[in-house]
Amino acid sequence: AQIAQADFVKSSKKKEECPSDGLPEFALVGRSNVGKSSLLNSLVRRKKLALTSKKPGKTQCINHFLVNESWYLVDLPGYGYAVAPQEARIDWSQFTRDYFLHRETLVSVFLLIDASIPAKKIDLEYASWLGQNQIPMTLVFTKCDKRKKKKNGGKRAEENVADFLNLIQEFFQTPPPWLMTSSVTNQGRDEMLLHMAQLRNY
Ligand code: GDP
Repeated sequence: AQIAQADFVKSSKKKEECPSDGLPEFALVGRSNVGKSSLLNSLVRRKKLALTSKKPGKTQCINHFLVNESWYLVDLPGYGYAVAPQEARIDWSQFTRDYFLHRETLVSVFLLIDASIPAKKIDLEYASWLGQNQIPMTLVFTKCDKRKKKKNGGKRAEENVADFLNLIQEFFQTPPPWLMTSSVTNQGRDEMLLHMAQLRNY
């Protein structure tokens, strides 16, 4: 299930511009600063694969990376930029929404959640929206290596994960699969790749 090759293919501004070769894909999405670029790079064992600028306005694209010439990893715009103008925010959600609802080759959305901090409202809202629209989803908890901090109420990653899973329960008939990861220790990387391989062969 390892990644031997990963190449940037294209940036698309709407669903219609995405690759049309029918290969299966997995979309990574999460709040800005959740650790998405780090995770992408950890998955492909390369530094700086995700070359997209992180400035709001330059990240409003769907970025396709072709893996092992047979499937795509898709980097979606982050949400929750504090500095983004309101208009840009609305635009992101519309186009991301369109992608989620109508992209036929989308196997599963990987929703990234920072496990080093308590659950955020915006993350719960995203999880809820995906659940209610029955979009196949996997929860990927990031930064699980981070030690507890006092200002975080002293909670460990495991506790934040349990809290989050509890809070989203009501949005799902079947609880989504979830993984704990760290881009620092590479915890969860093989598990995530195996999970993707299983979903592709399903
Ligand atoms: P993005 O905005 O979602 O692409 O987030 P980045 O990958 O740029 O990461 C945001 C910040 O979190 C950076 O300072 C990273 O060094 C840090 N970070 C990302 N992943 C991890 C992780 O697994 N563990 C720890 N401790 N820090 C991380």
